[in-house]
Amino acid sequence: MIINVHAGHSLKCRGASGLLDEVNEDRAVKNKVIELLRANGHTVYDCTDDNGKNQNSNLKAIVNKCNDHKVDLDVSIHLNAGGGTGTEVYVYSDNSKAKDEAERIVKNISNTLGIRNRGVKTTTKLYVLRKTNSPALLVECCFVDNATDKAKWNADKCAKAIVEGILNKSVNEHVETPTPKPQSNASSALGTYMITASDLSVRTGPGANCRRKTYEELTKNAKAHDYDKDGCLNYGTRVTVSEFNGDWAKIPSGWVARKYLKKV
Ligand SMILES: [Zn+2]
Repeated sequence: MIINVHAGHSLKCRGASGLLDEVNEDRAVKNKVIELLRANGHTVYDCTDDNGKNQNSNLKAIVNKCNDHKVDLDVSIHLNAGGGTGTEVYVYSDNSKAKDEAERIVKNISNTLGIRNRGVKTTTKLYVLRKTNSPALLVECCFVDNATDKAKWNADKCAKAIVEGILNKSVNEHVETPTPKPQSNASSALGTYMITASDLSVRTGPGANCRRKTYEELTKNAKAHDYDKDGCLNYGTRVTVSEFNGDWAKIPSGWVARKYLKKV
């Protein structure tokens, strides 16, 4: 899926606050939602705006970002205020293509956090639901000014509930970051190296059996002062490695033993 996600309001035009602060919590939820969706292979655009100084400019900035991409779903994340308790999700109308996701999300949040399920509601008054081009839903995770909601609040669990509602399947809350296997050709290992040996010979290919290049061959396309008369690289010469092959490194003029190179 391709999904737009944003947290409501802006750092310069903050949302509701009480026992919880909406802007702090909606961003925590938003970040985790994006992390989990991406970990499950989906493309996500973060359409959060932090520059809007008033509600109008904030909403316009968010919707502009949303409508920059054609997506399967727009997800807006808020926290509620005004004395209620529980979670609710808004869609534009009963015909909204986001309604199934909305139903699952509100049920999941209610079950996960153990707060009241206020259900899916329709409204044509919310700017982000009215102005976004793709199916959209707006989550009011819980109430910032309710003691029960505050006691049960957990941004990560709420995010997982939202993601499972979107995807209609279970996901792991903790994203496993695979330990990168040591890879000799990892692009991070390539780059500029310094030669740490005197008279380091340059070969025609990887491996000690490859023929040693002559001074004439080496200096044809390279700086002569990098090589001695025997066709060896001098200590301190800087070379760019474009490939590794076992114990050998490919530099512009040929192959050299990797152990005599130091990354700079
Ligand atoms: Zn809000």
